[in-house]
Amino acid sequence: MTKTIKFGGTSLSCGKNIASAATIIEKENANYVVVSAPGKRFKADEKITDLLLTCANSRDKTERKNAFVAVKNRFSEIKNELGLSVDLNEDFLKTENAVFAEAESEERYSFIVSRGEYLCAKLIANYVGLEFIGGDGILKFDDSGALDVSKSVFCTQNVLQSIKKCVIPGFYGSDDNGVICLLPRGGSDVSGSIVAAAVNSLYLNYTDVNGFCRCNPAIVENAEPLNNLSYTEAMRAANEGATVIHLLAAEIAKKYNTEIIVKNTFNPGFHGTIISKNRAETKKFGAIAVTDMPGCVCVIFGDNTGRCKNVEEELPFVLSANGIAFREKNSENGVFRIGTNDVKKAVNALYKFLFGNE
Ligand code: ASP
Repeated sequence: MTKTIKFGGTSLSCGKNIASAATIIEKENANYVVVSAPGKRFKADEKITDLLLTCANSRDKTERKNAFVAVKNRFSEIKNELGLSVDLNEDFLKTENAVFAEAESEERYSFIVSRGEYLCAKLIANYVGLEFIGGDGILKFDDSGALDVSKSVFCTQNVLQSIKKCVIPGFYGSDDNGVICLLPRGGSDVSGSIVAAAVNSLYLNYTDVNGFCRCNPAIVENAEPLNNLSYTEAMRAANEGATVIHLLAAEIAKKYNTEIIVKNTFNPGFHGTIISKNRAETKKFGAIAVTDMPGCVCVIFGDNTGRCKNVEEELPFVLSANGIAFREKNSENGVFRIGTNDVKKAVNALYKFLFGNE
């Protein structure tokens, strides 16, 4: 079976984690490896993409310089930790020239911000001994800067038909003029979906949690990972703020009927969550997401559980019984607006009420 495997930023944040990812690549006998840029190693750490955004956006030269040096040091450190031979000097120089270029342009911006995935993929390709294929050759964007999904799938098919295994940087592609274009934040997931659709493979999405959980485990400790969910359920959750899988990645998987398995790089023996057309499980799907809007939480019900009218009507009482005043409830989409300081408390109370006894 052909396998596309994607690793998120936390899974690739340092040499040690990259070595664990490489063991998984070998064990899975993965064909196509799609990578994010190195993420945070610890809570106060900075993601490479955030540092590169400072390099691209800051008007302050010293700030730009500091961010660039931090990026360079981080990649050099990973290279040393893994004892790699690949020479990144030319890439560093090109990036540095772009960072300190006088003229601002969209082209300069996308080039700089995409270097996190680009350099990470180069290092990993060197470490696992596979070919490197740039994202600009496979992901295609239209004149308005939007991803052209069909064209991307077509181009990826063409490029990969003679390549059995390789490493591909996520998060960027190019337009018809060869200019680099970026996906939205978290977009390496989308690159993974495109590759998996193009080669008609299973899509293994390795992240830093045990699968698609009923709630972000950073908010509800021991939030239950779900065994299965449907594309529509995954899309609904992603739309309301769940970050395990990107909304567009789930949409592409649905369109091409690509089975996704979300797994944990730090607990690879755990089965994870299967996202597919029909959810086989009888267990009810339900999840709680914290939306992008400050102070808003959303209760999401599953395909075949509808909006669970009776349960839904009880939710405001659950909040007030826990001393949480909600300012607004949108009955269209199940979103509650509460005070920003109450979010964690509210999510835990709703979680306990909805799933606590299962
Ligand atoms: N590195 C990018 C980000 O931080 C894309 C990704 O990780 O998927 O958003």
